[in-house]
Amino acid sequence: MDHARVLVVGIDGVRHDLLTELYTPHLDGIARAGFLAPVEVDSATPTMSGPCWATVATGVGVAKHGVWGNRLDGHRLDVFPDFTTRLAKDLGRRTFAVGGWEPLFLARQGGPLFTAPTRLRYTAPRADTPEAWEEVDDRVTDDAEHLLGLDEELHAGFVYLGAVDETAHFLGCGEEYRRAIEAADRRLGRLLDAARGLPGHAAERWTVIVVTDHGHRQEGGHGGRSLLERTAWIAACGPGLTAGETPSALHHADVAAHVYTALGIEPDPHWTLDGRPFTR
Ligand SMILES: [Zn+2]
Repeated sequence: MDHARVLVVGIDGVRHDLLTELYTPHLDGIARAGFLAPVEVDSATPTMSGPCWATVATGVGVAKHGVWGNRLDGHRLDVFPDFTTRLAKDLGRRTFAVGGWEPLFLARQGGPLFTAPTRLRYTAPRADTPEAWEEVDDRVTDDAEHLLGLDEELHAGFVYLGAVDETAHFLGCGEEYRRAIEAADRRLGRLLDAARGLPGHAAERWTVIVVTDHGHRQEGGHGGRSLLERTAWIAACGPGLTAGETPSALHHADVAAHVYTALGIEPDPHWTLDGRPFTR
């Protein structure tokens, strides 16, 4: 069996322009080993979580997956499934998805986006507050650490961290927002440690992708086309990626395409992926 494994960490609503000012050593490490580059949410895609995460997870744009807002109703995920589902259902791989935002993981608000991974964990926030979301993200990180360590060796997974975005919505992009981004980086560090600590790690070919869905206006909020809102980013490192080489014309749909490639799977033309692997 191929020993390639992929971890995708989605951190919601992290502004690219602030990253250089903040203490994010784990993200910096991925950027050094591979790349971290801005991604423009294309003009057809609302700068909202639902559509952007759907593009990340499926490798196709809104015209195909049909997720136009934070309610996922009317989607076409049966035809354009997320990578955790396609890998598990059709390609014989074991996958997971973990997080605390309902429509990504549960049959609520027209969801879930992650339809049928091998393993799924969802943690509900006890309240709709930044503090409650920090607790959720801690639990989500716990769950992901546990899943990464399972003997069944999950091949690919998606971990969703939502506290940064919630903080911006409640408090704007000030000091609390900055601290929330640094907290998300510490959770990323825990996930990387969990992967590195696995007995088979040295023999495994790990790809790590970290991605945000959209930015935020300074006062908090997104959905429009301002530079701050439409600028997202992707960071990745792993086999085939050269330190310091950023893929040209990077797009959210490239994430799922790269997941398949990193696992040694040639995307079937019938999937009509819009994204391309980072290795091009
Ligand atoms: Zn979002």
